[in-house]
Amino acid sequence: MSAVNLQGFVINSLDYEDYAQIITVFSLQFGKITLYAPGVRKITSKNRYAVQLFCKSDFEIFKSRQVDTMSKLKSGVIITNYENLAKDFMSYLYVQGVCDIVDQLATFGLPDGEVYNLLDLVLDNINQDNKRFATYVFALYYLLGLAGTKLDLSRCVRCFKQKPWYRRFDYKDRGLVCLNCLHPNENKQSQSFVNIFQKLNKCSFAEMLKLDYNFIDLIALHVFLIDYYESDNGMVVPVFKSFKDTASTRIPEHCKVDYI
Ligand SMILES: [Zn+2]
Repeated sequence: MSAVNLQGFVINSLDYEDYAQIITVFSLQFGKITLYAPGVRKITSKNRYAVQLFCKSDFEIFKSRQVDTMSKLKSGVIITNYENLAKDFMSYLYVQGVCDIVDQLATFGLPDGEVYNLLDLVLDNINQDNKRFATYVFALYYLLGLAGTKLDLSRCVRCFKQKPWYRRFDYKDRGLVCLNCLHPNENKQSQSFVNIFQKLNKCSFAEMLKLDYNFIDLIALHVFLIDYYESDNGMVVPVFKSFKDTASTRIPEHCKVDYI
């Protein structure tokens, strides 16, 4: 086996044997890859920083040619350790949620520049406390692409016509509803909330993060996305449990009418 180089984010790690770890890296070159990292838990190991969870590192590996055998770490050099994540529990949970979803949904060996850039932005923004809740929530939305269950936000979910405006996002129908298609018992929702879905249809992840948002709109989107991942995609994401009944999923009582 000859050594190859890759750059990536450590999205999962598991202690193995006495001093080894099995790490999962999302790399630019090979997408998701699992590495056997011998000796990295010895304090004398030169590679111990590069394999830390949620770090960005350069790796030199012996790449396995078979799908069912693991590649082996030769050496690693840390690029960024995102040191603030360890100091703030919520930041840590946001990153853990995003990395867990990538780990569960990404295909082994399939490079994906969009997901790589998303992870880069997520780790950077959340580490710098820059729009960290919006970054986390929109990352959940864009990662639906990996699950193959992206929402169709290009037209009304009931009449299938493209309209300049929509009046609600229907949680059950999983789509935007135009004024003509509102049922008599249905509310118009907060327009800024509905507009987010129209923007999601047009903008990239990075473009979305340049805009400003009402915090309660983001909470409502978060609640919907958790439900969508759990019920439609059948996924178990442990951090979602930690967010239930916290400020990140609680719409204040007097605002609830705008999101029904
Ligand atoms: Zn319609």
